[in-house]
Amino acid sequence: MRCLSLLIFLGLFTITSKTNAFDSRYKTFSESSVKKCTLAQSKKPSVNICITGQATPADLTRAKQWAARASLTWLRAMKVLDKQVTRQIVFTCEDKHLTINLKPGGGTSFASPSVTTIYLTRPYGTWTHELGHALAGLSDTYQGGAGKCGSQPQSLMCWGAYGPRANPEEWSTLWPDDIKGVQANFKKVFPGNSESPDWASSVELEKPLALEEPWPSKNLNDPEPILKDDRVVLMKGPASEIDYDEDTESIDL
Ligand SMILES: [Zn+2]
Repeated sequence: MRCLSLLIFLGLFTITSKTNAFDSRYKTFSESSVKKCTLAQSKKPSVNICITGQATPADLTRAKQWAARASLTWLRAMKVLDKQVTRQIVFTCEDKHLTINLKPGGGTSFASPSVTTIYLTRPYGTWTHELGHALAGLSDTYQGGAGKCGSQPQSLMCWGAYGPRANPEEWSTLWPDDIKGVQANFKKVFPGNSESPDWASSVELEKPLALEEPWPSKNLNDPEPILKDDRVVLMKGPASEIDYDEDTESIDL
């Protein structure tokens, strides 16, 4: 009998350990801070992004493309839960839902609810990572320094601009842990029932996002991001060279 109890105990222990090995490790902002993040505006007719700071014309063009693509990457992970999530991005500083402050050169990018500062030599993954804070309400999960995932489940919120999914032509840069995190935050802000779009199970959220068609739609005239205004001070000069070196000092990326 004792032996049976021990076996049952060991069996339970094994199941628990296995479950933990695949457990989520995402961290979120406090609930009141999550409600101040851009995801709380995701069911409005558009997500309005205000770009500020300094940039050359070429960098500003790229910044708008990456801002739209990174925002839609997070919005897509919410859209599969709720068909009311918008796909319309508007660049405007009126009624803004997200502010992206551009800084020339390299440095440590950072974010708080609905606001981020991004250095213009940082790779694309920095944009999705910082919007993981400002738009999605997630915290960093690095172990062993910025840009390292350690032994926990891999995620954009620990890898940042680096790691196996850094290439946005191969990956959306999101991992299952990030997707669980943003979906948990979305449900905190919008509790209750919601209706998924009929294509929800056919889209792979870890795969790259196409800016011109972020997700399937029956509407053939879906609008591109709309450019209204920004608060950027234009500088003379060429496009910044992106720093892909993983040994760079500033990797929060
Ligand atoms: Zn971070």
